[in-house]
Amino acid sequence: MPIASTSIFRYRNPSSLLLLRRGAAASFRHLSFVAKHQNPISRKAQNKNLLRAKQTVKHLSSLSPTLPVNHRPLLSATDAVGMVAAAQANFMRVIVEDSRVEDGGGGGGDGDGDAVRVGVELLCVVRAVLKKIKRRVLVGDKVLVGSIDWVDRRGVIENVFSRKSEILDPPVANVDHLLVLFAMEQPKLEAYSLTRFLVEAESTGIPITLALNKSELIDEETRVAWKLRLRSWGYGPVFCSVESKFGLDTLAFILREQTTVIVGPSGVGKSSLINALRSNHPLTNVSSEGNNWFDSILGSKLLEEQRVGEVSIRSGRGKHTTRHVSLLPLSGGGYLADTPGFNQPSLLKVTTQSLAQTFPEVRKLLSANEPEKCSFNDCLHLGEPGCVVKGDWERYPYYFQLLDEIKIREEFQLRTLGTKREGDVRYKTGDMGVKQAEPRLEPKKHRRQSRKRMNQSILDELDDLDDDDSLLDAEGDSILKEIGNENQ
Ligand code: GDP
Ligand code: ZN
Repeated sequence: MPIASTSIFRYRNPSSLLLLRRGAAASFRHLSFVAKHQNPISRKAQNKNLLRAKQTVKHLSSLSPTLPVNHRPLLSATDAVGMVAAAQANFMRVIVEDSRVEDGGGGGGDGDGDAVRVGVELLCVVRAVLKKIKRRVLVGDKVLVGSIDWVDRRGVIENVFSRKSEILDPPVANVDHLLVLFAMEQPKLEAYSLTRFLVEAESTGIPITLALNKSELIDEETRVAWKLRLRSWGYGPVFCSVESKFGLDTLAFILREQTTVIVGPSGVGKSSLINALRSNHPLTNVSSEGNNWFDSILGSKLLEEQRVGEVSIRSGRGKHTTRHVSLLPLSGGGYLADTPGFNQPSLLKVTTQSLAQTFPEVRKLLSANEPEKCSFNDCLHLGEPGCVVKGDWERYPYYFQLLDEIKIREEFQLRTLGTKREGDVRYKTGDMGVKQAEPRLEPKKHRRQSRKRMNQSILDELDDLDDDDSLLDAEGDSILKEIGNENQ
């Protein structure tokens, strides 16, 4: 399947790596201290400090996004590599995938005891400096954890590995499979609605399985007719029924060894299917109820306090509240997101140019004609001379309709925002999943700041960072203290 570079899906460039550890933050603290407190300082020295500060800030913000995905860092006894399985408030549950066990001699990486720690679940906070450089940690991320206390199962997320993929609804990294779920009846399967969902899903570039639930409500004839119809679209649907358990084994088999998000309209049985699949797994019932896990480790009272603290500490500025999502381990390996994904395709990231590629039948027509191509590079397949994608496929009218919708949106964006370049527009997603476009404000890019202002803002940044880091330390310490108290 070709990988589209559009939509809610992004590739990250796994270029160089820079491991940010406490040392870096400490040097910041030092710099800001120098700049702030040594008042009768020569202008020359001050400028020099500012220059150093500036370089450090620049250096920090231009950090490569992440660790390369196959990088195997040298782990100390208190480090591990793991996968974020759940997030709640400031806490992340990380399942250990690789660690080093102290073997007395130090050095080396693969102690025999490794296996014992693989699968251990750690309660982690994220280094404040990662937040500062906007390196958001998502459920599904592969992370480097440091400062681990193996007895109390706590640690600090130090860095994130490159992502294969990233979806925003629900926010999960490294999703490698989307299960598009519809019902045959209640609500009745409808070709246009299904097409919109498939287009949205295809636009992520993530492989898709189409499953049709409530199939016990239809007769064999209807089932066969839909099967043939969908085959002509390029899909081999899995018919299932959560009610009668029909087809669930097939789905469980398809989901093995992958991280899957289920998407589809409301009422089709997404939550029922998630529950049915998780109850297959003895482990999921015990330890993978994300919220219960956090509550049992932290005590729900502490979590409540933590949420209140988040707002008040930061001078009333509300912090982004992450939607809770957990990854449930499946019996055949792999994970399933416990929260269904988009149930209203916005198609916001599909462009007039990328739309055709979200239809498997167009992809097939294009590849069947190779090496011949449409005469125009930017052919929209609307009957242009020399177009190899003829209009004799069932969903052509849908393609046409969607193209119209997207065209209108692009023209609107062009008028209101002055551009349709993706980088200049950002999409805000409200609680209800409604997306709104707004211009991305980049004051540093568009407005020239006076040197004095610029120097001041660097100092502010450094102070902020300083505060943040001590905040994390204080935050971390108080959490650890609380946990200590709880355990006594
Ligand atoms: P969601 O909105 O997609 O998460 O759908 P739900 O899981 O909440 O299910 C919606 C309704 O469909 C519920 O009343 C379920 O009991 C029902 N339902 C789920 N699966 C099936 C099925 O296979 N057959 C039938 N007849 N009803 C089902
Ligand atoms: Zn064409």
